Amino acid sequence: MQITLSNRLAALVHDSVEVLERVAREHGRVVYANSLGVESVVLTDLIWTHEPSIGIFTIDTGRLHEETRELLERLERRYQRRMEVFHPDGAALDRWIRENGINAFYESEGLRRSCCEMRKLEPFSRAIAGADAWITGVRREQSAERAQGEVIEWDERYALWQVRPLLEWREQDVWDYVHARRLPYNSLHDKGYPSIGCAPCTRAVAAGEDPRAGRWWWENAESRECGLQPRRQPIPIVVEQPRRAGC
Ligand code: SF4
Repeated sequence: MQITLSNRLAALVHDSVEVLERVAREHGRVVYANSLGVESVVLTDLIWTHEPSIGIFTIDTGRLHEETRELLERLERRYQRRMEVFHPDGAALDRWIRENGINAFYESEGLRRSCCEMRKLEPFSRAIAGADAWITGVRREQSAERAQGEVIEWDERYALWQVRPLLEWREQDVWDYVHARRLPYNSLHDKGYPSIGCAPCTRAVAAGEDPRAGRWWWENAESRECGLQPRRQPIPIVVEQPRRAGC
């Protein structure tokens, strides 16, 4: 199918593919941690179309929305490839639920973090074991910290390179690409979910609200991260004050 991209989008795609090819060439094992959000759809398309040597994995925490699993299946069908799926350790999960209860993450930040640790971080550690670089869908406009980042940076926390092929993409670029390529995406995005995690810990947000406001909404804004990426501070909005006469 012939598709036409705007000059801006074509340039972004060119640069992102170049990054993926360079990383695949220069590093040993490169993996992409696919969150099945909208940036992931773009990266899946770029990797499986242009640099399929990069391994893609995702984590099924056991509490995902059915719409997220449907997206995984649609992506696999479209590209005729399998995404590696990591799950929480079964024994640890049984123990946590027995000791705390199935939905104990609502009770305290500590229990919420221990659930994220067990369902997300531990499988993530297994997934990246032995990798030299991991790819993320981080974009510069998402937060103040992300605005400072480089496309390829040493990641102290995991002791491997972190690669951000979409760093310069704006949200509109992501959606333009998804629509131009007619890529499948999570149907929850059309129902007010800009950021999608586990079903019990994600809800829709109102128009104009912080896209992350629907994640762990019962906690205060500072604690709302699962720990895979450093905490995000929104980019401060600078309101220009009217100038006084004579200044
Ligand atoms: Fe557990 Fe919620 Fe974290 Fe998912 S997002 S791992 S259900 S606390």
